[in-house]
Amino acid sequence: MDDSKRLKTIDAFMLNSELNLDLDDLMTLLAEAYNVPIVLLGIVGRHEEVIKACHGTDIKTIPREHAFCNRVVDSGEALVVSDANEDERFARNPILINDNKVVFYAGTPIDVDGETIGAVCLIDNQPRKIENENLTLLKRIGALVSKHIALSREHEMLKREHGLIEKSPIVLATWNFDNSLKLVYISKNARAVLGAEAADLLNGNIELIDLMCDQSDADFTFAMQAHMEGVESHVCRLKVSAPTRTIWVSMISTASFNDDGSLVSVQAFLFDTSDQKYVEDKLNETNQRMRLLLEASELGTWDWNLKANVNQVNKRWCEIVGIDYEYYDSSYRYTRQLIHPADLMQFEQHLEDHIAGKSQVFNTSFRMQHANGSWVWVESYGKIVERDTNGKPIRIAGIHRDITRRMESEIFERKKTQLLQFINKTRASYLESNDLTLACQTVLPELIDLSDSQFAFIAQMQDHDTEPKLFIHAISEIVWDSESFSQYSEYKNRNLYFTSFDNLFGKVIVSGEVIIANSPKNHPASRGTPKGHPRINRFLGLPIKIKDRVVGMIGLANKFESYKPSDAEFFQPFVDALAGLFYAVDLERARADAEERLRKLAMTDPLTGLLNRRSFLDECNRIAQTHKQTAVAIVDIDYFKSINDTYGHDAGDYALKEIANINQSICNEHGVVARLGGEEFAIVLVDKTPNEADQIFESLRETINSTQFNYKTDRISLTISIGVSYTMDSFEVDFSAYLSVADQALYEAKSIGRNRVCWQPGIR
Ligand code: GH3
Ligand code: MG
Ligand code: MG
Repeated sequence: MDDSKRLKTIDAFMLNSELNLDLDDLMTLLAEAYNVPIVLLGIVGRHEEVIKACHGTDIKTIPREHAFCNRVVDSGEALVVSDANEDERFARNPILINDNKVVFYAGTPIDVDGETIGAVCLIDNQPRKIENENLTLLKRIGALVSKHIALSREHEMLKREHGLIEKSPIVLATWNFDNSLKLVYISKNARAVLGAEAADLLNGNIELIDLMCDQSDADFTFAMQAHMEGVESHVCRLKVSAPTRTIWVSMISTASFNDDGSLVSVQAFLFDTSDQKYVEDKLNETNQRMRLLLEASELGTWDWNLKANVNQVNKRWCEIVGIDYEYYDSSYRYTRQLIHPADLMQFEQHLEDHIAGKSQVFNTSFRMQHANGSWVWVESYGKIVERDTNGKPIRIAGIHRDITRRMESEIFERKKTQLLQFINKTRASYLESNDLTLACQTVLPELIDLSDSQFAFIAQMQDHDTEPKLFIHAISEIVWDSESFSQYSEYKNRNLYFTSFDNLFGKVIVSGEVIIANSPKNHPASRGTPKGHPRINRFLGLPIKIKDRVVGMIGLANKFESYKPSDAEFFQPFVDALAGLFYAVDLERARADAEERLRKLAMTDPLTGLLNRRSFLDECNRIAQTHKQTAVAIVDIDYFKSINDTYGHDAGDYALKEIANINQSICNEHGVVARLGGEEFAIVLVDKTPNEADQIFESLRETINSTQFNYKTDRISLTISIGVSYTMDSFEVDFSAYLSVADQALYEAKSIGRNRVCWQPGIR
């Protein structure tokens, strides 16, 4: 037979322990009722029977093989032995109780959980009989004892549970319902947990609800009300004022109902969750603070897993760069491509340094492209938050802050200062060199830098003489083929002009307006770029004006982001400064021109444009320094008075100019020609022998002699007479003296018939 199940049951019912069944009184009662000296309750274990209650003996155990009860256990039936001495099963049983042999035995089984675990038995040391009805009664008592054992176990379990509860921070309470809910049980730890004695709460000296503060009494009432209305379980959090402090209690309550749905009782656990509440509150508070902080400071957060190369961000992060959170791609590549190419290197350097442990925190500012195409300045602040077992960083987390406004105003301030310095530099460079082209070339790189552009030019209109054209003072070096190379060489020689204005930059000159073309090829004025020219993807043209007259322009191209009207506004001071310089240069040129004109006027004869007497003498003195063999001639028109008289003074003037021209064309390359006054001219020929000089003078005379001067309808013929003086050594000569010698020779020519060349006597 399987004993193990039975033994387990004994264990389960705690009958191996010191569990006191408290049945000694019953044993005594049975002894009296049945009039036997000994009554026992024995539990039959593996090796022995343990006496759990008894009357008439203090025996504790009986070896199992000698135990009469063992027979009851084996059979599961009641056993009656009237005289053991007469029964061969027990005749030799050595067991002695109170030094006496067991002679009479009547036992009934103790059954729990379907197992017979022991017996209640009546014992005497004399033979006896037991009536049937008395045996039946004994059996019923055995059954009651069985039940008692089962209940004892339950009781013990409950006691232990309660004991546990009483030592725990969990208060157990039970309310019974009888018109209202009445507290019928509350664990003793109520004092420790809730600060009120269980007894006081039970007898109504203190009402549980009176311990609640603030809203909690209402919450407690609500919970109880809910159960009365049929709610099975309910959870709430109550604020309880214990004598020394206020605590937070969580209450989990469960209701039990009758079959008809009427409430029977409510059981609740109440436990101190103050610590938890404190932590929760703190956490909430911190979260709240953090959330408010994040909201107020508008921080984006990022959490980059280096291993997975995944960058998790929050909504605000996305918002900063105008990305819909739903569409955010967490790959690092995605984040990387949003970073401004000019800032990327520095960004990655900072990151690398932090990962390598060279910096405590990762902190840098850079631009990111907003979904609308603009650039947003972002300050990033992060730190390694997780490392693998080898200490290698695997996660960096941090925050993003939009600092665009701050950066833009900072950059703007910086640029403004830069611009001022730049303007001063341009002015200084011009003043120093008096060379506007050089000044423009000097500042061009800074102009490119300051405007964030790739290319630039500074040009000035020149429309003094011929077709209007744009002189290029300074231009970026863009060379892509032989033609552009030769253009650039022209530029280096300060000889580069743009002459066509039917194009994008021409529009600036023609309209006198700022031209912004962020998609130049779509601009109506655009004529495209020459083949091979670097792509122009953005253009800003700034006209340089003096009093509404366009005098030049600045061209800027290929800024990283769009050119805006604010760019034009920003550069206006520079444009104005250039206009001022252009104006100054124009003024200077006009002044120089006027001076030159005056100088010429003072030196020349107004009618013929030849040198006048004074400047002729100066010029002769000048050339005398370097030349020898000088012939000095005076040319006088024959009978000129009669020309005036015959054809009029205007015709005379005309003839004078024509003769001046012939004089010049024949003699200019050999020396100097001047008009001395009236119809008299002077000619100086240098480095000529007398014969050579004579040939030239003769050719002059003959040319005029054979020329017919046509003035209006008149045909005028003229002759001239020439008187010549000559010197071999012209240094330190007084030309006035030679002129008077020539004059004498002229007089000779006149007197011997005119239309001839006469030389100073003795020369030829
Ligand atoms: P000769 O052959 O002796 O030189 O005779 P002539 O008429 O040329 O000499 P004379 O000195 O008598 O006359 C010079 C004339 O030249 C006088 C004046 O009317 C004329 N004459 C002088 N200056 C100008 C001028 O600027 N324009 C014109 N049309 N005539 C001038
Ligand atoms: Mg004369
Ligand atoms: Mg004359």
